[in-house]
Amino acid sequence: MGIVIAVASGKGGTGKTSVTGGVAAALAMAGQRVLCIDMDIGLRNLDISLGLSDRALMDFADVALGRCTLSRAAVHHPDLKELSLLTAPMALPPSLSPYRVRSMLSAARTLYDYVLIDAPAGLGPGFQYAVCGADRALVVATNDASSLRDAQRVVAELDWLPQVHLVMNRIQPKLLRKLRTTIDDAMNTAGLPLIGVIPEDAQVMLCANRGIPLTSQGRKGAAMACRNIAWRLMGRRI
Ligand code: ADP
Ligand code: MG
Repeated sequence: MGIVIAVASGKGGTGKTSVTGGVAAALAMAGQRVLCIDMDIGLRNLDISLGLSDRALMDFADVALGRCTLSRAAVHHPDLKELSLLTAPMALPPSLSPYRVRSMLSAARTLYDYVLIDAPAGLGPGFQYAVCGADRALVVATNDASSLRDAQRVVAELDWLPQVHLVMNRIQPKLLRKLRTTIDDAMNTAGLPLIGVIPEDAQVMLCANRGIPLTSQGRKGAAMACRNIAWRLMGRRI
């Protein structure tokens, strides 16, 4: 049975989409069958960063509302054959409900090892749909106070989930040693165990703009950090 992981943060721009794409690609490279679902309704962009823009004709709401099967709607990645994407609709369909989203995710669990959901910023309906059927969550924060406070709010919303982990993103590599105490503080503030620290790395934006998986960057920088997170999720030793 597959595992559904929501990637959330509260604050916009912390790197949810980048982390979803980077970790999903690393899981797929490790041979796992992975479905990414973009739940940033109206502001989707995971398709761009995965190099799958304009390929999807149907979105996750079409599947949840029974207009299309999951297998038909999911777009396969041309280079990473284990990676597929279900994109977000441009507007929230009024008939969508948490029950329908959970039913769709039950079907997805039978077809994939991991389902990664890219949540929107905020705690509105899109966020609620992104987390309603999750088994665990990754909360992405940067090292600034407002991001950490928003992460704290998200954690409070997710108190029913058995496993919620913190991902610290955009950490300056040169400052990492000095930041160690700050990261401890971040874990304390967010009240979460840490699953990974992703450095500030220009390749995140460059790869996303070119639609190349971050994994193409090999074992360095943000690509390596996403791989490490993927391996921790799989319970493998790094
Ligand atoms: P969100 O989905 O939370 O809004 P994105 O993943 O879209 O955030 O990231 C916002 C911006 O930050 C993008 O331009 C992305 O390329 C950049 N970014 C994200 N993570 C990193 C990183 N580790 N290093 C450098 N740039 C990053
Ligand atoms: Mg995003």
